[in-house]
Amino acid sequence: MSNEVAPLIFIISAPSGTGKTTLIRRVMALDQNLAFSVSHTTRAPREGEIDGRDYYFVNHDEFQKLISEGAFIEWAEVYGEFYGTSRREIEHLHSLRKDVVLDIDVQGAMQVMGKLNRREWVSIFILPPDIDTLGQRLITREKDPLEHIERRLSAAKEEIENASKYDYQIINDDLQKATRELLSIILKARKAAS
Ligand code: ADP
Ligand code: 5GP
Repeated sequence: MSNEVAPLIFIISAPSGTGKTTLIRRVMALDQNLAFSVSHTTRAPREGEIDGRDYYFVNHDEFQKLISEGAFIEWAEVYGEFYGTSRREIEHLHSLRKDVVLDIDVQGAMQVMGKLNRREWVSIFILPPDIDTLGQRLITREKDPLEHIERRLSAAKEEIENASKYDYQIINDDLQKATRELLSIILKARKAAS
């Protein structure tokens, strides 16, 4: 990314369990000009998650306070918990001249697409190969209680109906292929913006 070009925002959504976190981590390891936007959430940390790296973990009162202060560029209730992207986080990453990766749900993605200039963002929806595989991945991950897995799986079909609203769709079947596709979308967008 050259210094004269405004940083891009890559909005990435997928049904839970598709492999979005895995894909984002892989692409970020290959591309030092990307920075991950750490969201606020009221959900409890999963094993291995670190406050400030994976999320800013806050309670419901703190989240409501941030909403009332207008701290979020977008926020949404997802699977019964609150998630939001703070303006401060985006401003900070922009000040580092990094392109920003937003890992957010469909509701949040629509808000960002509606608020920001069309030239600032590129949207990508990651799809599982099929619903059975998605269920299997949620179970293999083993980081959510069973009833949460069922809720996430039943939301997936509805979420997938929104895939066509995004600039790009990637099917995460073969992980290496999907990583290459995501990276090539990012490189193409940078080239187009420069
Ligand atoms: P998400 O962030 O979309 O909820 P994760 O990245 O946590 O999903 O991935 C869910 C599970 O699926 C993890 O156990 C991960 O290792 C696995 N996984 C991710 N991508 C693939 C793939 N292409 N093939 C097989 N398993 C995958
Ligand atoms: P998880 O609990 O599995 O980490 O995330 C659940 C869902 O919340 C995922 O679809 C993820 O993309 C979404 N999410 C994470 N952070 C944000 C955010 O800041 N805003 C919105 N709208 N969704 C988010």
